[in-house]
Amino acid sequence: MDLHPDIERVLLSEDDIKGIVSRLGAEISRDYADKNPLVVTVLRGAFIFTADLMRAITVPCAVDFMAVSSYGSGVKSSGVVRIVKDLDTNIEGRHVIIAEDILDSGLTLSYLVGLLKGRGAASIRIVAFSVKDIEGHAAAVVPNYVGAHVPDAFVVGYGLDFAERYRNLPYVGVLKPEVYS
Ligand code: 5GP
Repeated sequence: MDLHPDIERVLLSEDDIKGIVSRLGAEISRDYADKNPLVVTVLRGAFIFTADLMRAITVPCAVDFMAVSSYGSGVKSSGVVRIVKDLDTNIEGRHVIIAEDILDSGLTLSYLVGLLKGRGAASIRIVAFSVKDIEGHAAAVVPNYVGAHVPDAFVVGYGLDFAERYRNLPYVGVLKPEVYS
């Protein structure tokens, strides 16, 4: 496939992504046999990752969706998280796996973990498709399952957007800075 003109370089190709997702699915299937986990997708970015991940999980599992606003159309996390859409599932006693597209500061997830703990989940783990390597400070949460590490740049594709564009790119790439600055 031709590289989109707004993309500087590809970080994770379609083949890389397939390998990552099948490894994560195998790890989760091994750890959650007989636990019927609930995979909680953080919309919108994680919807494509979750769709692939669910098909790579071989044990019974369920899915539900939450939407939070963090970035808007900018590129820096504000630390302020607002629930835009809540879960429909009662998670009391459930084993919850939060599926995240990209972990940056971790502020969004640290808020969500606290919230879901308060609702009585039996356990909460995080599967992050990608983790941004940030220099100088640690993320607010440590994911239990990590797909790939990406450099500290603004990336799009495979569900990740800039101003609602580029989610449909089948790879993860670095957006050219002139597009957002
Ligand atoms: P955090 O709260 O960990 O700083 O931010 C997490 C959320 O910010 C992600 O779920 C994603 O929506 C957004 N985000 C963080 N880094 C990037 C990035 O490089 N590209 C895109 N498109 N979104 C990002």
